[in-house]
Amino acid sequence: MNKILPVWKYILVLFIPALLAGCAAQNPQQLGDLRLLDWEPKSMLVVKETEVLKPKFPVIDFHNHLRRLEYTEQYLEEMDKAGVWMTVSLDGNPENGFYREHLDVSRSVSEDRFLVFYRPDFSRIDEPNWGEDEAMRLEEAVGYGIRGLKINKALGLTHRDATGELVKVDDPRIDPVWAKCGELGIPVVIHVTDPKAFHEGPVDRYNERYHELAERPEWSFYGPQWPSKEEILQARNRVIARHPETIFIATHMANLPEELGRVSMWLEKYPNMYIDINARISELGRQPYTARRFMIQWQDRILFGTDTPPDAEAYRVHYRFLETDDEYFDPTPAHKQQGFWMIYGLYLPDEVLEKVYNKNALRILGKFKGVN
Ligand SMILES: [Zn+2]
Repeated sequence: MNKILPVWKYILVLFIPALLAGCAAQNPQQLGDLRLLDWEPKSMLVVKETEVLKPKFPVIDFHNHLRRLEYTEQYLEEMDKAGVWMTVSLDGNPENGFYREHLDVSRSVSEDRFLVFYRPDFSRIDEPNWGEDEAMRLEEAVGYGIRGLKINKALGLTHRDATGELVKVDDPRIDPVWAKCGELGIPVVIHVTDPKAFHEGPVDRYNERYHELAERPEWSFYGPQWPSKEEILQARNRVIARHPETIFIATHMANLPEELGRVSMWLEKYPNMYIDINARISELGRQPYTARRFMIQWQDRILFGTDTPPDAEAYRVHYRFLETDDEYFDPTPAHKQQGFWMIYGLYLPDEVLEKVYNKNALRILGKFKGVN
């Protein structure tokens, strides 16, 4: 017997599958349209989360920027909250005597918790005898309380002299300055080049730091108009080799955290080379087995630094990373988002922690000879 379906059942039988088919055809397209920059996956993992409010040993933050002097008291409050003993500000710019003002303000807030490093003025490099004169100005600054030198990545990458040529990191005109640091017993914190992803490929779908470069395209140094990262790193290493009496802290894991094997070779080769973990826990924490072995092997040559104006929460992410074996957590609050990955703690032995937190820094600062 033929069943005659009521009209509404025809509608259900014929139209609903058609509707569903329509949705199925549409959904993947809509899903695929999610922009990479909007993707914020929430981890479903249930794993141990350790809260580390204070470090196991007092911390010396050897790499920071405290040039916003009006916040100096606030910096100290955050340092107290997070168990930070001393912070190095690398912002001792000589322009308009700023480093003096920086030192005055820092001292007025605390006599012994802030250190300020000097930045040479490369804009004057064309002056005859610039190297000797700058070395003299540095000595004078040390007399005023400066305790180190800072070089930023413009050297070798963007800074040009009067002839229009890039000033290379190993430009002989700078030699008197490097030598003076050795003579005075002050370290050089040297930053050259940026992450590999900023130099070694276009900003495209294959770039592992795509989201940052999409936001800040001026951070990309890829293309024939730029010197290669490798060239600059080699020039830095030549300077380190040429000035064995001077201590160089090659910041950001010698600016090659992506290749710790090579950093190891350099540390072996240059006894006056030190490194800091500054703003690179995202790189270290995605290779925790290699990073842990590396930190244990080079425990006497690694310093702690954050590059993040004192902030208790940011410090605590660093402590969690160095002290615990917590897994798969977000390093972003430690500095800023760097790459689309989570990190894993290194649970470093106490002996190593103490060296990285303060002993290595104290040993370097202890080499200070001062001015006559
Ligand atoms: Zn910095």
